[in-house]
Amino acid sequence: MRVLWLRGDLRSYDHAGWSELGIGDAAVFVLDPGLARHASPIRRAWLAGALGEIDDWTDHRLSLLHARHGDELAAIFAAWGATEVLTHQGVAPGIRRRIDATRRSLEARGIALRVVDSAYAVAPGSLTRPEGGAWRVFGAFWRQWRPAVHGLGPFEATAPPSLAVTERHFEPADLRPPDQPLLTPQRTALERLERFVDSRLAHYAADRDRPAVAATSELSPALHIGAIHPRTILAALGDLDRADRFVRELAWREFYAHALWHHPDLVDLELDPTLRQIAWDEGDEADARFRAWCDGRTGFPIVDAGMRELAATGWLHNRVRMIVASLLVKDLHLDWRRGAAWFEATLADADIASNRGNWQWVAGTGLDAAPYFRVFNPTLQGKKFDPDGHYVRRWVPELRACPTSLIHEPWRWVGRENAGYPLPIVDHDRERREALARYDAARASA
Ligand code: FAD
Repeated sequence: MRVLWLRGDLRSYDHAGWSELGIGDAAVFVLDPGLARHASPIRRAWLAGALGEIDDWTDHRLSLLHARHGDELAAIFAAWGATEVLTHQGVAPGIRRRIDATRRSLEARGIALRVVDSAYAVAPGSLTRPEGGAWRVFGAFWRQWRPAVHGLGPFEATAPPSLAVTERHFEPADLRPPDQPLLTPQRTALERLERFVDSRLAHYAADRDRPAVAATSELSPALHIGAIHPRTILAALGDLDRADRFVRELAWREFYAHALWHHPDLVDLELDPTLRQIAWDEGDEADARFRAWCDGRTGFPIVDAGMRELAATGWLHNRVRMIVASLLVKDLHLDWRRGAAWFEATLADADIASNRGNWQWVAGTGLDAAPYFRVFNPTLQGKKFDPDGHYVRRWVPELRACPTSLIHEPWRWVGRENAGYPLPIVDHDRERREALARYDAARASA
């Protein structure tokens, strides 16, 4: 008997694993009790939806287990009579450890574990620099990656396999918190892809940095859970040169995954060794600044709009992610790991490789990073990317009556006090100088 062990590949089409299953095989999703409690409500809703779609497709023959990875899981598969377990590649260090532990326990029982695919167009680790390791610069990665995805097509559609019913410790619906909507990730992903190709792609390059404009694909939560594969997306784009700006974004996702594959410690450790001793603020006053950032009460409208959008929807526009992250690190002097953890607790697409890679990019400590001395000015960023203030007005109702000319500097608006919107919690110019001094001190001590 073969067992398809589903993890972050929760879809029924364009899937390497399903095409290998025959009558009497099994497909399983496993919740490790030690991990389950960490998933945020929005991510549980995506998971519940994706499992529900697969469960329907398999006529409710999907096995759903509560089990610890390693020996406990291997013992269950052995009791089913498994001869081979198929799964897809794990990239984050914790997941790799759990797969390796399970592989060892399976092998001890004479059961093979075979990796049949990855969540990427090009499997992390399969492209390597001549001198070994991961690329530090995106351009060099892109030059290898782009030809590698040329002509890549989806796997053939598979009929639902006739699975043996094995065990069911929970139902997909049990995972959805009551206050979260019922989601259909696969269907949603395919609808979003079609909408993107039909109406957004042509304007993507021009509008992708404007948070008030619906210009991006919004595919990230579905990509994260594997409700859609990048192969499917690339195939739908047709001429990749015409879609170059968008294809590059997909490549950034793969760039960070390749980097994490080679440098598992980038999750917590600055890749740039000269910037490992930056003095971050801690204590009550720093905690208060962190809370103001999380709650969208910093007094910088574009930042507050973003943090409120994140709290309300579990999604945030890329440009705004960069702006809020920069404020946390460079203006509030708070550790980038703290911001990354908050994103992981709130984002529907929270992904270790993309999240930690991007936070290090913003902090100037990672791969192809923004030079550390380039500090985003939240007011200028707001004026440039939300010139009409539509995005701010959508998420910060206190500023709806603020004139457009002042919407990104409401401290100059006479009506501000009545509107109940806070003053900026820091002075950007002063904190910018402070950040540079701290980065310089870290470099000097390295
Ligand atoms: P589109 O513009 O439509 O792009 C298509 C796809 O390309 C995205 O779905 C995503 O998979 C990929 N992509 C786009 N931009 C990036 C990027 N900068 N880095 C890596 N992949 C990219 N993305 C996540 O998926 N998970 C995260 O946890 C995450 N954390 C981030 C943290 C910070 C501080 C920053 C600055 C960015 C982060 N991103 C993360 C990247 C990016 O913001 C989101 O992927 C993007 O906003 C998702 O929206 P979309 O699907 O409409 O993107």
